Amino acid sequence: MTTAIYPGSFDPVTNGHLDVISRALSLFDKVVVTVADNPAKQPLFTIEERQEMIRQSTADMQGVVVASFTGLVVDHARQHNAVAIIRGLRAISDFEFEFQMALMNRHMAADINTVFLMPHERYTHLNSSIIREIASFGQDVSAYVPEVVAQRLKSKFDRD
Ligand code: ADP
Repeated sequence: MTTAIYPGSFDPVTNGHLDVISRALSLFDKVVVTVADNPAKQPLFTIEERQEMIRQSTADMQGVVVASFTGLVVDHARQHNAVAIIRGLRAISDFEFEFQMALMNRHMAADINTVFLMPHERYTHLNSSIIREIASFGQDVSAYVPEVVAQRLKSKFDRD
């Protein structure tokens, strides 16, 4: 049984994240999608809301476990007996930061490899902050995120 963890903010989960999760599932038996608890980022959705949206959006995917963590990704990977950390690479702009993180994680945990997965081209322009921004102006984002997320965004901004 091989396990990978897929850490991120997922604020909120998008179709690009889901594409990466399904690719990771073709390589690993279990993928722990784990939401970073990083209050410094001032997230739009709480940890529980983000986890719930991931759970609902991956309900038909076998082998997904949803978790959350604080602290170091490598410590969290060890807790789950993960052999790999999954990260998505959309463009060269992602590369520099991801490369530094991967090398630093490898210094701390030489036996855990970072695996980069590229999403389908249709998702390379997607990121959660752009989704939050356009949804805040009342724009329909249902082409980019799962239905549950589109609804949550709508009710979040309708209320504000
Ligand atoms: P973080 O705040 O850690 O970047 P995100 O939730 O934005 O967290 O992203 C988690 C991971 O998913 C990162 O590796 C990021 O590059 C990747 N990712 C985000 N959006 C996409 C996308 N549209 N396609 C592929 N990978 C993506």
